[in-house]
Amino acid sequence: MTDLTDLTIAEARDGLKAKRFTATELTEAYIGAVERGRSLNAYVVETPEKARAMARASDERFARGEERPLEGIPLGIKDLFATEGVHTQACSHILDRFKPAYESTVSANLWADGAVMLGKLNMDEFAMGSSNETSHYGPVTNPWRRQGSNATLVPGGSSGGSAAAVAARLCAGATATDTGGSIRQPAAFTGTAGIKPTYGRCSRWGIVAFASSLDQAGPIARDVRDTAILLKSMASVDPKDTTSVDVPVPDYEAAIGQSVKGLKIGVPREYRLDGVPAEIDALWQKGIDILRDAGAEIVDISLPHTKYALPAYYIVAPAEASSNLARYDGVRYGLRVPGDDIVDMYERTRAAGFGEEVKRRILIGTYVLSAGYYDAYYLKAQKVRTLIKRDFEAVYANGIDAILTPATPSAAFAIGEKAGADPVEMYLNDVFTVTVNMAGLPGLAVPAGLSSEGLPLGLQLIGRPFDEETLFRVGSAIEAAVGTFAPAKWW
Ligand code: GLN
Repeated sequence: MTDLTDLTIAEARDGLKAKRFTATELTEAYIGAVERGRSLNAYVVETPEKARAMARASDERFARGEERPLEGIPLGIKDLFATEGVHTQACSHILDRFKPAYESTVSANLWADGAVMLGKLNMDEFAMGSSNETSHYGPVTNPWRRQGSNATLVPGGSSGGSAAAVAARLCAGATATDTGGSIRQPAAFTGTAGIKPTYGRCSRWGIVAFASSLDQAGPIARDVRDTAILLKSMASVDPKDTTSVDVPVPDYEAAIGQSVKGLKIGVPREYRLDGVPAEIDALWQKGIDILRDAGAEIVDISLPHTKYALPAYYIVAPAEASSNLARYDGVRYGLRVPGDDIVDMYERTRAAGFGEEVKRRILIGTYVLSAGYYDAYYLKAQKVRTLIKRDFEAVYANGIDAILTPATPSAAFAIGEKAGADPVEMYLNDVFTVTVNMAGLPGLAVPAGLSSEGLPLGLQLIGRPFDEETLFRVGSAIEAAVGTFAPAKWW
């Protein structure tokens, strides 16, 4: 029998249903894989006993013929999602020992559909980063390596643990979040698929807040179909998150494999950037050719305010973060460093509890929101955000169904390579992805090929609000042409 961890979610679901193996056998296979994969540092907490109990319950459901859509499917959960009674620290020191008494809506939806929890996944501290190097628990190793090299590469971030665990078969699929690219960039770096749904598609309740107007949860999985399956379960309207939207959740999986004939695919000229490696352009062209050959109409489009998206994002996101992170002061959650008085205690706790990147964001955010600078920075960035949104609206009003761009400006880089003195080096990773968060749109990253060094590269599809189905449809057409990608096992 093939290794059960090689099965996609769809294959595992069908195998379980046909009683070719049990949920317990599938879960044990993953528990073993997680143990053998510890050197990747993808998990910060393993919950094998919980997984076994959930798998047993799933097997009982199968025996009664009462299985639910994700019955017995083992998943990893990003450490940003509150999981009742289980370590939830956003991979920060300041949340030491925090175990919430509640479950995030997204993870609760997954359990209600029968999924099994393997543990909590590593990530950049408070989801701030593009390489998983800001985690209090140390970096995650990308299971992919350059041809002929043993250099340790980053899996991208902030959902680096999610992407690495999926690529290395340490879970069947994973939850992730995306504020500026944290689902799509790590997916692209690891040869996995990931979707950031429309803002409001998934409830943010119980997800540690970074930048509330940009944060959205979504899945990372081995192929486009699996992301569709997971999103169906994760998405819901939720009275506990008033920004979640009451739009019916369609059967996303039904969009997989549907013809793209006649769809209008926009190719934005502003995404052709100087300094981006030729192989990224070549990959983009390959995507264009695939979709044209499949019967789509390729249309050159313009999104004129694109170049302002990254600077505006790095004002809006830190501004919201500085406000959201004010609550970590040693009083209610996690770490407390005693001081002479309460203000001294706050200061010592925050100085010891937050890492360098988080402190940088809090400083930037506090600055751009302060009297005198608010109009010059924050207000201006909000205006730019509106213009970016209008760019997309104009293009969609002209009949474009989806937009095709590269997902990242490079393949995965080495640990330490971009974590140097200039933080902008790291921020530039988000150049193709932040626009989508600023406009609240859905974005799908789909693997589309390998770099000259044998590393995965991804394309991004951007859709109309609440039209994730078109992204699944177009993404599956690209996938049908290029196949899926898995790293050679060395760990
Ligand atoms: N890399 C971006 C940042 O650091 C995006 C992170 C994210 O999407 N959570 O802000």
